[in-house]
Amino acid sequence: MDLTELTENVYEIPQEGEMRAPARVFASEPLLRKMQEEGRTLGQIRNVAALPGIQKYSLVLPDGHLGYGFPIGGVAAVSAEDGVVSPGGIGFDINCGVRVLRTDLDYADVEGHEQELVERLYDLVPCGLGKGGYVDVDREDLDGILEDGIEWMAQAGHARPADLAHCEEEGRLDGDPDAVPDDAKRRGVKQVGSLGSGNHFLEVQRVADIYDDETAEAYGLREDGVVVMIHSGSRGLGHQVCQDYIRRFEKTYPDLVDSLPDRQLVYAPLGDQAAEDYLGAMNAAANFAWANRQAMTQAVREAFLDLFGTDDVELVYDVCHNVAKEETHEVDGEQREVLVHRKGATRAFPAGHPEIPGAYRDVGQPVLLPGSMGTHSYVLAGGERSMDLTFGSTAHGAGRLKSRTQAKKDYEAGDLQQRLRSEGVYVKARSGETVAEEAPGAYKDVDEVVRVSDALGIGTKVARMRPIANVKG
Ligand code: 5GP
Ligand code: MN
Ligand code: MN
Repeated sequence: MDLTELTENVYEIPQEGEMRAPARVFASEPLLRKMQEEGRTLGQIRNVAALPGIQKYSLVLPDGHLGYGFPIGGVAAVSAEDGVVSPGGIGFDINCGVRVLRTDLDYADVEGHEQELVERLYDLVPCGLGKGGYVDVDREDLDGILEDGIEWMAQAGHARPADLAHCEEEGRLDGDPDAVPDDAKRRGVKQVGSLGSGNHFLEVQRVADIYDDETAEAYGLREDGVVVMIHSGSRGLGHQVCQDYIRRFEKTYPDLVDSLPDRQLVYAPLGDQAAEDYLGAMNAAANFAWANRQAMTQAVREAFLDLFGTDDVELVYDVCHNVAKEETHEVDGEQREVLVHRKGATRAFPAGHPEIPGAYRDVGQPVLLPGSMGTHSYVLAGGERSMDLTFGSTAHGAGRLKSRTQAKKDYEAGDLQQRLRSEGVYVKARSGETVAEEAPGAYKDVDEVVRVSDALGIGTKVARMRPIANVKG
C-alpha cells in the first residue's frame, strides 16, 4: 500500500480507486508498524475514505486497531448535507466512554484499604451480563432516560448540578425513544448502573505526575490525590440498537451492500428515514450510557462515604468515545456542518471552544485516556492543533495489541493478579478469563500513544495516574 510520511507522526495514503479522499495515519513509526503488522487497520481507513460526503481525509489515531468496518481509533467526518451515517463508524457500544471523579482524599488515606474498597464497589455495581443495576427504573423511567439522559437522573435525585455541567453535551443528546427497538429497551431497563464485561472497569487511581500545573488546577487534580475512573457504555441496549439498525440498513439498501468493499461499512444517506431513525436511536442510547455512568458515580459516592466518610467526590469530566455528532469544522477555508463519526476516539476541543464548560474554557476540554489495569492512565487537554488535524479528536486509550484469544494463551490470571498486587494494584474481576484477556501486555504502550498526541498538539499532557484498585467487568 502506498504510504507517504507528510511530517513527523503523520502519514498519508493517497486517494486512488474508489476513494473520495485520502486517508491519514497519526502515529509514530513504531505505532504505525504495529498497525501494519496487524494487517487490516490501514485497509479499513482506505475503505472509509470511499464513503459519500467524506471531508478532508479519513483518519486513524495512534491507538488505532482493527474494528467492525471502521478501525477503533478512527474518525470520519462527512458532509451533513450529502453524507451518510454508518453504524460501524460509531460501534456496537454506543457512547462507550470514560469519566473521572476526583476526591478530597490522598493516597495515604486509601492505602491499606484497597481490598475493602474493591469488595464494596464490586457489591454495589453489577458486572457481567444482565444482573441488574445500581438504580432501579421501570419502563416509563427508561423512556425518560432515553429522552433526557443525565437531566432525568438529576430530576430523580441521582445527580448533582455539577455532574451535568461537567459532562460532554451536558449529558444529553436529542434522542428519540420511539426509535429504540423494544428488545433494546427490555435489556436496558435492568442495567442502569452496571459495568458490563471485560474491557469495562471502575478503577481507583492516584495522581502520580502533573505536567501542566495551571490546567491540572482548573480540573481539580493534585499530585497524590485519589481519583476514580469509570469506563462503560450503553450495555445491552446500545448493542441491540446497533445490531438492529445494521440489519435494517442491509434490508433497505441491498444493492449498496453488494457494492461495498466490506459489508460492515453499510450506511444510510443522511435525510433518509432510516438514517434519521438511527440517529434518534443512537442519541437515545448515548443518553442511556450517560445515565449508566452517572448511576455508577452514585455507587462510588456511597462507597466513599461509608468507608472514608467523605462526600467530596466530584465529576471532573465525562467523554464519549463511540458516537457521531453534528459539528462545525473548517474545510477548504470555509465553515461546514459535518457529521463526525468517532469510534474509539475522544473529542479534544482546544481552549476557547464554546462547547467546553465555563470552568475549563481557558485551558481546553479534559480528555480522559485510560491505559490498562497495570500501567498509567492520563488526563490530557484538547490541543490547539486538533481542529486543524483531526476534527477536534485524539486517542481514546492505549489500544488493543493482542486479541482476547491470544491474551488468554499468553497470560495466567492468578500470576497476573499476584504480580499486580505486589505492584500495589488490587484487582477483582468476574472471572480469571477476564483478567487474562485484559492483561496490561494485551494493550499498546499508553505512554507512547500519549507522547504522539502531545507532540502533534491534538491532546496535550496534563496529568497521569497509577491504578490502586480495579473492578473489571
Ligand atoms: P475500549 O473502549 O476500546 O474497549 O477501551 C479503551 C481503553 O481502555 C483501551 O484501549 C485500554 O487502553 C484501556 N483499558 C482497558 N482496560 C483497562 C483497565 O482495566 N484500566 C485502565 N486504566 N485502562 C484500561
Ligand atoms: Mn464499551
Ligand atoms: Mn470504550
